[in-house]
Amino acid sequence: MSAPHFVIAGAGIGGLTMALSLARRGIASTVVEKRTGFGESGAGLQLTSNSGRVLDALDLALPLKRVSVSSHGLMIRRWRSGSELLEMPSSPERMPTPFRMLKRSDLHTVLLDAARAMPNIRLMVGRGVQEVSQSENGVSVTLSGQSGTGETIQSLGLIGADGLWSRVRDLTGDPSPPVFTGYEAWRAVVPARAVDKPRVTLHLGPGRHAVHYPVDGGKQINIVVVRQAKEAREGWSRDGERRIVTEHLAGASPALRELAGAAEGWQVWSLFDRKPAAMAQGRIALMGDAAHPILPFLAQGASLAIEDAAVLARLLAEKLGSEGAAGVPAAIASYAAARARRVARVQEESRGNGRSYHLGWPLSIARDFALKRLGPEGLRNRYGWLYDWRDEG
Ligand SMILES: Cc1cc2nc3c(=O)[nH]c(=O)nc-3n(C[C@H](O)[C@H](O)[C@H](O)COP(=O)(O)OP(=O)(O)OC[C@H]3O[C@@H](n4cnc5c(N)ncnc54)[C@H](O)[C@@H]3O)c2cc1C
Repeated sequence: MSAPHFVIAGAGIGGLTMALSLARRGIASTVVEKRTGFGESGAGLQLTSNSGRVLDALDLALPLKRVSVSSHGLMIRRWRSGSELLEMPSSPERMPTPFRMLKRSDLHTVLLDAARAMPNIRLMVGRGVQEVSQSENGVSVTLSGQSGTGETIQSLGLIGADGLWSRVRDLTGDPSPPVFTGYEAWRAVVPARAVDKPRVTLHLGPGRHAVHYPVDGGKQINIVVVRQAKEAREGWSRDGERRIVTEHLAGASPALRELAGAAEGWQVWSLFDRKPAAMAQGRIALMGDAAHPILPFLAQGASLAIEDAAVLARLLAEKLGSEGAAGVPAAIASYAAARARRVARVQEESRGNGRSYHLGWPLSIARDFALKRLGPEGLRNRYGWLYDWRDEG
């Protein structure tokens, strides 16, 4: 009998974590990535303890330490005056795994280096998953790209980790397209200043907000400005004109304007929402943004993709061990059942944060009052269910 092998569509955060999680359990994979290069700039990520534990279990704590900054908490400020609404210092007792802040490209490089070092992970770049057909014993995945359309790979299953515009999700016959939210996120990095505390700072304003935090081992600050927009553009990101963000920040606090003014270039993401998919269809599983894109207002999209990988890899390994290849559909069905409630809750929380962040006067007064009443301890407790997550297996 040949060794178990899966095809993973997409070498993003979710796909690479999936390949590493399978490899650790002795399961081989071929990761098919549509793009030919992985270079990207500008984007930062907050990785909270729920996903941090998964990455630590993959022995990535050391390489991550080199490129990330541990957060000392959260500061929430008012848009116009910059005055303090709530300060929540981090609590090492409550969150022993570091809350990491880093560039998305640095996380990606850490995962890619680890995947390249594993003999049972094969990376195929410049090729996209195009078609799939299932039989009782496995799937046949047809690729498009470089070496000609029609190349086919046989495996025990297909894992769709191919992001918001997932081809694999389309192949499952999913009827719900991504829907533009009316918001776009402008992202840039600026040089860090000695006075900056290593924490996440959030500025709340009517119909807008901004977030910034240090990345790149503390050498740079990642800044994200979210604004309303009339129309969406598909795709991962595009360059943004500095003039537009300057106008948008005209009524912001001097500190925020100064920080943003130091940015040399901006990249813009149109923000789309999408209903959660059926995450299992026979031998096809969906994960990460392909299954449940999360609006960035809770900073959890990448974290949930990482959690998905841990759960799916464990369940596949368990079923392969007890039932062999025939157990793959049951493992994928168990994965979908295990994840459904949590991903729906995180999606909903994130949408709720967006609504609350962007409230205008006078509702913003009620929000600010509620935040002050909640206080740092209340806020920490409110998200215990999110950050305390551990894979139960
Ligand atoms: C402004 C903003 C801020 C964010 N901040 C945070 C944050 O602080 N914390 C956090 O956890 N998350 C954050 N996110 C969300 C996070 O970036 C995403 O949720 C995460 O990248 C999803 O990972 P993924 O692997 O599912 O998909 P992706 O990272 O999109 O990867 C999908 C991959 O699949 C490839 N692909 C596409 N189609 C095919 C195909 N047919 N065949 C093969 N390959 C294909 C793509 O090229 C890509 O490499 C933020 C997002 C935005 C927009």
